[in-house]
Amino acid sequence: MEVVEVKKEIAKCARCGKCRSICPVFIETGDETRVARGRITLAEAIFQGEIFYSKELRDYIYSCKKCLRCQATCPSEVNFSLIIDALLEGIDKNMGIPLMARFILRYILPRRRLFDMVIRLISWGQRLVPGQRKGNLRHLPLFFMGKRWVPHLVQHTVLERFGQTKRLPNPKMRVGFFVGCLINYVYPNIAEALVDVLNKLNIEVVIPTSQVCCGIPARSLGDNTAARILAEKNRQVFEAEKLDAIVTACSTCLLTIKRDYLRLLGESWRPMTEKMYDISVFLEKFTQYQPEHIDTTITYHDPCHLKWGLNTTEEPRTIVSRCANLKEMEYPDRCCGGGGIFSIIYRDFSLKIGQHKIKSVEESGAQMVATSCPGCVLQIADLAASKDLHVETLHVIELLSRTLNHGPKSLPAEGELSKVGSQ
Ligand code: SF4
Ligand code: SF4
Repeated sequence: MEVVEVKKEIAKCARCGKCRSICPVFIETGDETRVARGRITLAEAIFQGEIFYSKELRDYIYSCKKCLRCQATCPSEVNFSLIIDALLEGIDKNMGIPLMARFILRYILPRRRLFDMVIRLISWGQRLVPGQRKGNLRHLPLFFMGKRWVPHLVQHTVLERFGQTKRLPNPKMRVGFFVGCLINYVYPNIAEALVDVLNKLNIEVVIPTSQVCCGIPARSLGDNTAARILAEKNRQVFEAEKLDAIVTACSTCLLTIKRDYLRLLGESWRPMTEKMYDISVFLEKFTQYQPEHIDTTITYHDPCHLKWGLNTTEEPRTIVSRCANLKEMEYPDRCCGGGGIFSIIYRDFSLKIGQHKIKSVEESGAQMVATSCPGCVLQIADLAASKDLHVETLHVIELLSRTLNHGPKSLPAEGELSKVGSQ
């Protein structure tokens, strides 16, 4: 990353403090070193050689959720993601990251079969851990991910199950599907729904089996070498197919591939970014669909990376309101507190941030909460289960699949709800 470019962004910050009013981490901690303004001051001091990388500084940087709220609302238009990426890269170069993390990022994530085997092992370990909660959420083995509740990990991944493209006689379009790790290993039902909807609309879905992780865990730890290996692999896989578009149902994968791959792979990647769509944007732009409206009240949660990173808010709402009765919650764009590595390292912050979200969901009175990112599905389902709140959490594409299938006309019974999120 160009230091000149980063310094230019640092200089743009007027120190106005507006980011303090919207940063989810600052709102919970009140700590100036955990908000954009404070982190920019630290970055300036680093670049001027006034301070050095240390464990304390690393904590201030890692505790940024990279939700991009500050960047999207900053009156001085500071590109905060460039600054935080430079700091993360600096941490990796000056202090390194744990050897196990390095090994996973560089040697396991790029090897799909090896990664599948590791997940299978974790899945068996997960079944040995006692303490199942409602909604089929259960602990991952503690040594792997701390106190994180997730649904059962799959035994057969989406890539294994959908490796063969279902050929359509005269398809309207041929579309690639970037699956992403959470959907591949935790939420295959989201992939099933996406393929189902597109096939019903006469769109052929190609799911290349050698696609790998988008690289966000590597980006979050500043290991751009690992991120580049993964980006290059995905580039080869998708460029080898003749595709009219590429869709994904994960906002974080989409932002990583559209924005970060340009930084990692350069401008030659731009034509591919222009072909990439969030599934709801793709459906609204290229298709016409007629779901059967169900008499269920559903509220919608804006994933940070979709709203603040990609400025997409309307298309998922259009889908929800065509399928059911959309009822806005208070602050639908308030962060749910989820988010990969942040929600593992800073579990307490993550839960505190999430309490506001689940309160809004509860107060909306909705029977379901829909969203556009599997990471948010995971977090909101976890929060709901911890409060014993009977609200089904699902992805917008699952809702559409159910209603195009002429599926359930109202909220499933509680017995049915407990199956949500299971394989
Ligand atoms: S990052 Fe933007 S909002 Fe925050 S203090 Fe700087 S100029 Fe103000
Ligand atoms: S990206 Fe999000 S968590 Fe990080 S400083 Fe900005 S608002 Fe706060």
